[in-house]
Amino acid sequence: KHIKTAEDLKEQLHEQAVRDELTGLYNRRFWAESIERECARVQRRNCELSIAMIDIDHFKLLNDTYGHKLGDAVLKHITKLISKHSRQSDIFFRFGGEEFVLVMPEIGNESAMERLEEMRLMIQNTPYEHAEHGLLSITISIGYAVIPRHGSDHEKILETADQAMYYAKEHGRNKTVSADIFMP
Ligand code: GH3
Ligand code: MG
Ligand code: MG
Repeated sequence: KHIKTAEDLKEQLHEQAVRDELTGLYNRRFWAESIERECARVQRRNCELSIAMIDIDHFKLLNDTYGHKLGDAVLKHITKLISKHSRQSDIFFRFGGEEFVLVMPEIGNESAMERLEEMRLMIQNTPYEHAEHGLLSITISIGYAVIPRHGSDHEKILETADQAMYYAKEHGRNKTVSADIFMP
């Protein structure tokens, strides 16, 4: 029972390969297989799926002011806060740098806005406690798109979510923007 089989080892290697070392979240390598599985499920069950792109605001400034180590700690802080407010079925990725993707199965446009706004406000209201520099308030910008409302090709949906996130950046940051803004 406690002997590792080849199958166990294979699974362990896969698990290591798809995890981000710093945060423990899934990394980009897990994106394709994960989203394809979720999309197939959406089509089978005729339900919705929201994909959110989450980016920390002015993260470079934070790094430049307080150092890379503090930056890393803030990445973990944000990871913890979002994870705590995620559902069992959500899939949470660190896509690189200070950019996260949250996949929310069975969540449509309105519920996504509610849930993401809750997360955004919760992060705004939970400053990071730095031993020397005191409380540092961190904010995030979020863009999201919904399958099938904004399309069904998951790569395009991710791109649309990214564009919505950039719209939030351009319009003052610390905002949640739905891909509805691109609809005619
Ligand atoms: P914006 O509000 O427009 O998103 O500005 P920003 O400064 O957050 O964005 P920008 O893309 O200019 O900077 C991202 C920074 O993230 C630059 C890079 O040094 C830093 N970074 C990327 N990966 C890591 C990491 O693993 N740890 C730390 N500490 N910093 C990282
Ligand atoms: Mg950023
Ligand atoms: Mg970024």
